[in-house]
Amino acid sequence: MYSITERFIRYARISTASDPDSSTSPSSSRQFDLLNILEKELQELGMENVHLSETGVLYASLPGGVSGEVIGLIAHVDTSPEASGEGVKPQLHVNWDGLPILLEDQVRIDPAECADMLRYKGGTVITSDGTTLLGSDDKSGIAIIIETCKWFLDNPDIPRPKVAVAFTPDEEVGRGVDNFDVDRFGADFAYTVDGGEVTEVSSETFNAWSANWKITGREVHPGSASGSMINAVRIAGELIALMRSEEMPENSKGREGYDYPLFVKGATGSAEVKVILRDFTTEGMVERRRRMEAIRDCLASLFPGSQIQLTMKEQYSNPGEILSRDRRLVEYALEGMRQCGIEVKEGSIRGGTDGSRLSFMGVPTANMPTGGELFHSRREWVAEEGLLIALEGLINTLKLWGEKQ
Ligand SMILES: [Zn+2]
Repeated sequence: MYSITERFIRYARISTASDPDSSTSPSSSRQFDLLNILEKELQELGMENVHLSETGVLYASLPGGVSGEVIGLIAHVDTSPEASGEGVKPQLHVNWDGLPILLEDQVRIDPAECADMLRYKGGTVITSDGTTLLGSDDKSGIAIIIETCKWFLDNPDIPRPKVAVAFTPDEEVGRGVDNFDVDRFGADFAYTVDGGEVTEVSSETFNAWSANWKITGREVHPGSASGSMINAVRIAGELIALMRSEEMPENSKGREGYDYPLFVKGATGSAEVKVILRDFTTEGMVERRRRMEAIRDCLASLFPGSQIQLTMKEQYSNPGEILSRDRRLVEYALEGMRQCGIEVKEGSIRGGTDGSRLSFMGVPTANMPTGGELFHSRREWVAEEGLLIALEGLINTLKLWGEKQ
């Protein structure tokens, strides 16, 4: 087994789910279980300026490097709360035959559903036992970054830039860079190592807004409701019916955005609906927000006497325009991955990363692959060979920064 695989498995076994309902930083103290180990390992490895903040951000820098821009490498320690991350038992499917993998609880990983899985036929696929997620998102990224640092420490004569490292908590609950100290990090450009298949480097994310609805009706005994009841449950139903189904996540892909009603709660007197809006373009997002306002006005006229409150908030923005100002960040990553002998394309993340916000905080950040797929689910997997390609690609990318400075 390669040391990157051993390292990944060791991290995957540590439970680090973040908690969307907590207001502390990090959102769950268990994230320190991994952060404390990483702090010690970075020190033992010979990294400099190792610092773990009270809010759970771990910083370090790789000693040496040519003068010029400082390149940051970022991964997150938390796993998604969408599937259990408790007691993960990584399974190795050695010499995988290319057929669907069956795990406990009827969990089935079908290569037909995964863009890149058959690349690893004959290799070693790593999964959970089916009762939890695997946590390749993003413990693969952590393992890749540490092995990259280790490689450059073992090969001190290879030109490379100055490298800063950060491991963040709470990426999965959208708060990964809430307490991020850009000055301490000290990078001019950065890569999150938080992507999926090895064939993609991402240079943009969605623009993201939330649209939260509070609907107030009027409760009356149904026996005497004629002419006076205003049913908030009906209004909530009408709201969703007025949204365009062709614009919903299940009907959109590629660079298309979506409007997603993801939560409904209510009774006659009041109801709550949560919607998220996603679009790659600024104009597209303006249009989505305008549609929400049009629905609000329509509901108000359909249900006189009701109160309909719509609150829209920006969650993160597409950093694509910022990244396009200096193309080296994306070009070197594409070239570095291509040097592994694979076809690589520039892609768009249908979601956000720590990098979307970091780019607006002054550190343009693109996203590099980890090789993992089916994140946030019990079917999550990564192949040992994928980890090795992602590792080699990241090393190549840093070499390019070193050679061209
Ligand atoms: Zn992630």
